[in-house]
Amino acid sequence: MKELILVKYAPEIFLKGLNRGKFEKKLRDNIGKKLEGIKVEFIHDSGRYFIKTDEVEESIKRISKVFGISEVCLVKELEIDLNSIEEAVLEKVKEAKEKTFKIVTNRANKKFELNSMEVSRKVGGYVLDNYDGEINVDVNNPELLINIEIRNNYSYIWSNKDITKAAAGLPYGMNGSTMLMLSGGIDSPVAGYLMAKRGVEVNCVYYHSHPYTSERAKEKVKDLAKILAEYTEKINLYIVPFTEIQMDIIDKCREDELTIIMRRFMMRIACKLADKFGIDSVSTGESIGQVASQTMDGLIVSDACSDRPVFRPLIATDKIDIMEIARKIGTYETSILPYEDCCTIFVPKHPKTNPKLDKIKKEEEKLNVDELVEKSIENIEIVTF
Ligand code: ATP
Ligand code: MG
Repeated sequence: MKELILVKYAPEIFLKGLNRGKFEKKLRDNIGKKLEGIKVEFIHDSGRYFIKTDEVEESIKRISKVFGISEVCLVKELEIDLNSIEEAVLEKVKEAKEKTFKIVTNRANKKFELNSMEVSRKVGGYVLDNYDGEINVDVNNPELLINIEIRNNYSYIWSNKDITKAAAGLPYGMNGSTMLMLSGGIDSPVAGYLMAKRGVEVNCVYYHSHPYTSERAKEKVKDLAKILAEYTEKINLYIVPFTEIQMDIIDKCREDELTIIMRRFMMRIACKLADKFGIDSVSTGESIGQVASQTMDGLIVSDACSDRPVFRPLIATDKIDIMEIARKIGTYETSILPYEDCCTIFVPKHPKTNPKLDKIKKEEEKLNVDELVEKSIENIEIVTF
C-alpha cells in the first residue's frame, strides 16, 4: 500500500474551455518549480495530479501554496479489491479515534461490480463489525469523513484529516504582470497576494526615505517580499531612494498637499520602472476612504499621472477583513512590527482630502519633476527573493 499526494485543481480551471490545457500545463510547471530539490514523480490523471515522493510533508507544505489548486490530499493507493479497501478504511478509523464516521464513495471505474452506495454501505458495515470500541455512522455531521475512489487501475482512500486546503485562484504567471507598491504596512502585501492569486506576476517597488526610515524598515519590506515569494516565483524588489523627492516637496510645496504630491511621485516612478522592466500594470494596497489620501479625489489625482492600469484589489475591503487575510497568508506579524514608513513621517497636520488635479499640477510646477524621477530611478537597488 503506497501513500501518494493527490492534487486537485481549483474548479475554475475546469471552466477554461479550449484554454484549459494551457492552464493545466502552467499549473504543472508551477508545482514542479515549487518542488525543486525534492525527488518526485508526477502522474496526470484526468483533471488532477498524483505525486509520488518520499518527502510527503514538505511537498504538501509547498504545493498547498501554489495558486490554481483547491486541495492537497494524502491518499493511500490500493488494489481494486473490496477486502483491501475494507482493511485500509478500518485502519484509518482506528488511527483517527473519532466517535462518528461516514463513507463517501466515487466509482469512476464502472466495471467494478458494486455501485458507489453499495461500496460505502459494505465498507461501513465492515468497520462497524470490526472496530474495537464505540463508533457510529453519522451521515450529517461526521467527525471522520472517509473518501473512497475506485478508478481504472487503483483505488484510493483518504479522510478529511488528510486534506490540506489550498488557496485556489489561477496559476501564477497566466495573467500578465504588475508592479506592486509594497510598503511595510498590512495592506500592500495582501494586495500583492490577491493579484498573484489571480495569476498575475508580482514585482515590488518600495520607496525608502533614508535616514528618516531606518534600515530595519527596509528589512521589514524585504521580509514581506520574501513571504510573498513563497506563493509566487522569484520576486524582484526595486528599492527606490525617495528622500530627496520628499525633501524637495516639503521645501517647496503647500503643506496640505504634501501627501498627494508624494503619492503622485510614487505613481510616476512605479510606471517608469514598469516600463523599463516590461511590467504591464501597477497595484497598490489602497482601500477607499481608509485614510486621507485614499479618498475618491485622492485616488483620481494620483491615477492621473499613471500611463497604465492601476489595480487596487482591496478597494472595497474593510481593514478587519484585510487583517484576516494578512494573518492567513503569514504577513501580519511582520507588518505590525513598529518601524516607521516614509509616509508616516511626512504626514501633514491637515492633508487635503479633496485635491483637484489642476491645483496639484500647478503646485508641482515648483518642482523639477522629471529630473527627480530620473535621478531616483538611476539609483535603485534591486533585490531578488
Ligand atoms: P499599507 O498598509 O499597505 O502600508 P496604508 O494603509 O498604510 O497601506 P498608505 O500609507 O496611504 O496606506 O499607502 C497606500 C498604498 O501606497 C500602500 O498600500 C502601498 O501600496 C503604497 N505605499 C505607501 N507607502 C509606500 C512605500 N514606502 N513604498 C511603496 N509603496 C508604498
Ligand atoms: Mg503604509
